[in-house]
Amino acid sequence: MQDTTPPAFLPFAKPAIGEEEVAAVVKTLRSGWLTTGPVTKAFEQDFAGFVSVPHAVAVNSATAGLHLALEAIGIGPGDKVLTTPYTFTATAEVVRYLGATPIFVDVDPDGFNIDPTKLAEAARAHPEAKAIIPVHFAGQSCDMASIMDIARAHSLRVIEDAAHALPTTYDGQVIGGIGDITVFSFYATKTITTGEGGMAVTRCEKLAKRMQTMRLHGISRDVFDRYTSSNKATWYYEVVAPGFKYNMTDMAASIGRCQLRKAGSFQQEREAIANRYNKAFANLPVVRPENQCPQDTHAWHLYVLRLELDRLSISRDVFIERMREAGIGTSVHFIPLHLQPYWRDTYDLKPQDFPVALEVYERCVSLPIWPGMTNGEIERVISAVSSILLEAAV
Ligand SMILES: *Cc1c(COP(=O)(O)O)cnc(C)c1O
Repeated sequence: MQDTTPPAFLPFAKPAIGEEEVAAVVKTLRSGWLTTGPVTKAFEQDFAGFVSVPHAVAVNSATAGLHLALEAIGIGPGDKVLTTPYTFTATAEVVRYLGATPIFVDVDPDGFNIDPTKLAEAARAHPEAKAIIPVHFAGQSCDMASIMDIARAHSLRVIEDAAHALPTTYDGQVIGGIGDITVFSFYATKTITTGEGGMAVTRCEKLAKRMQTMRLHGISRDVFDRYTSSNKATWYYEVVAPGFKYNMTDMAASIGRCQLRKAGSFQQEREAIANRYNKAFANLPVVRPENQCPQDTHAWHLYVLRLELDRLSISRDVFIERMREAGIGTSVHFIPLHLQPYWRDTYDLKPQDFPVALEVYERCVSLPIWPGMTNGEIERVISAVSSILLEAAV
């Protein structure tokens, strides 16, 4: 008799949590110290070593890290910050937290990273702009040499949104510390996770100190120092600014230390899945994602396929619906910010203002790509994508 039970729904993303993470959290829970403490400090040291950047500041999200980064470089009301519309809203919302204005710059049609030629034009058109936030989309590094040249020519600071980019390399070096501050995310779907969490890294001690102060209420020493250094009064502290509550807990850091040790093997697993997809989809009406710099590492946080809609009888939305019917989760990265009501209405943006972002959005779909996917699961994705597209090919 044939087994007609449908296979379980295959999620778009799934965190790879092992017994080491479970044991590490239990150990922290039993230690009596739950919030920012010795494990967070150790995670920061591990992370700084991993990216070869001297200062790492652990926070409770990448959004918090981006906010702290912009505050530390002095972004304030009325300032302008250049960034991409092809990103998650967090990248631009932090600019608004500080009363500044994001200036969106369209992306390149191959890697969907901020287009250096258009960035240079925007920098000339907005000479009063203070900073650039490039996003290493999907785990592919931006053209940092061009971005840093533009930054130097126009006295712009650079805050890298590396939420997708662990571990990504640029020019042979792990991403982190090319711009003034680089911010990573450990959200549940990202390449390594602490549930919620983030890390801001910098080569500048002054910027690191400011972020350390501002992540915890503007208190000039962190809780750990206050309660553990023996030569100072344990009750005394100074508030030097109205800071935020952005510190990481030791429970999250316990998970992070385990995950960081696996970042390399996770990347290899994701890359192997991307290679299998790319081979399997060679003859379908799609544009496959390529590593734009094969000599460098692509983190493959996302596998973004573009449908060739003029060769298909179905839209991207129908494709996603058919995948769901086949029991497979997918996603869209991203709905460009200029189409979102808040950004569209606040800055009077039109769909055609960023034609590349618009065109990519209308065709793109992100497929499951996570460490721990079985052969059978990868094959299920391949056969569903192939049969839906072959059936809809015109
Ligand atoms: C996920 C994400 C963020 C925000 O990360 P959190 O840790 O959830 O705050 C920022 N930028 C990009 C591009 C992201 O994908």
